Amino acid sequence: MAGGKGTRIASVASDIPKPLIPVEGVPVLHRVIDCAVRQGFTDITLVTGHLGAMIEESCGDGSRLGCRIKYFRETEPLGTAGALYHLYDSLSDDFYLLNADAVMDIDLSRMRDFHFAHGGAATVLVHPNSHPFDSSLLAVGKDFLAEKWYKKGELRSSYRNRVNAGVHILRKAEIKRFLDGSKRDLDRDILTPLVNERRVYAYESPEYIKDMGTPGRYAEVCADVRSGKVSARNLSSKQRAVFLDRDGTLNVYKGFVTSPDMIELIPGVAEAVKMINRSDMLAIMISNQPVVARGDCTFEQLDEINGRLEALLGDEGAYLDDIFCCPHHPDKGFDGERPELKFDCGCRKPKPGLILQAAEKYNIDISRSVMVGDRLNDLLCGKNAGCRKTVFLGNELPDGAPEGAERYDSLLSFTQNNFGN
Ligand SMILES: [Zn+2]
Repeated sequence: MAGGKGTRIASVASDIPKPLIPVEGVPVLHRVIDCAVRQGFTDITLVTGHLGAMIEESCGDGSRLGCRIKYFRETEPLGTAGALYHLYDSLSDDFYLLNADAVMDIDLSRMRDFHFAHGGAATVLVHPNSHPFDSSLLAVGKDFLAEKWYKKGELRSSYRNRVNAGVHILRKAEIKRFLDGSKRDLDRDILTPLVNERRVYAYESPEYIKDMGTPGRYAEVCADVRSGKVSARNLSSKQRAVFLDRDGTLNVYKGFVTSPDMIELIPGVAEAVKMINRSDMLAIMISNQPVVARGDCTFEQLDEINGRLEALLGDEGAYLDDIFCCPHHPDKGFDGERPELKFDCGCRKPKPGLILQAAEKYNIDISRSVMVGDRLNDLLCGKNAGCRKTVFLGNELPDGAPEGAERYDSLLSFTQNNFGN
């Protein structure tokens, strides 16, 4: 979709269409096309409108860019999906719908595999961002089924930071009924009804996708392309992570947390997480939450508690790339417990299961990653998983700490010493 104007970024470039704004000398649209071509996706249709002739001149028939490009130029604006009606016969059964004005580098095959494995009418890529409060968020349920769409600014005190990144795979036979040749908004007119029918899946990815809606974001994107962060985040490359414990590391320790209002960020934590977000490492929470097995809270309530933590971080522009919790506990025989969760699992720290799950999901090289926490169990979990480094937050290293474990007073002092410029 290469039709949009670039009004808010007019101070950077006002005389060219937004998809042709140069990022480190290369138009952003050429970067998107290059990302697809490198991965073997070579049939591309560009939907143009405003200043479409310039885009056609810049990309030609695609041969210079290693692909075949067709064009559909809108004579009147058809919204973000209306053109699909006119393109219908030339579309593949399942096709990617991308924005031409965001810098991205994603593993397209990985997302395609997810799409076919889940069999939805649509797959939407969601990722955490630094401004969830003015983004549209997707509530995601069991097995990554999209359950509800929250509009921009529809603020809640607790939400999972899963923002629609503007990268979709659509199954054409299932969207046909929404198209009639007139203007269509993809989110409102197609994806929202499909979410309500429980036909959309959310593909979670920390890969780099950023629009350049403001001069500030434009400058950030340019810096990230220069530093190599954009390409390094592609999940076909090995990732590095900082694994973070929750209670006592991110939020003030208050014993078992059973409701969202018990979550209070430790001072400096948002700043610390932001330093990780700006680095080339993922920020991934790894937490034992036996409160579920004990019957003190449900999975839904645990999600709300974690959502409160994400909302508080999001208010400060910080985010976690993902959250992994162990809901189990080994000891049976207490009132109100959930017997099906009472067993000796492989994911309760100090066992390495949660880190191994995260590594599988995001292609993480554990031997170049770090585990941080305020308990001996955190350090042992990091060691058992094979982390390069384990970091203890507190006054002194506990007895039994793995060899080489480091100690800092707080998460902020750890990041200032390891992620400062
Ligand atoms: Zn477990």
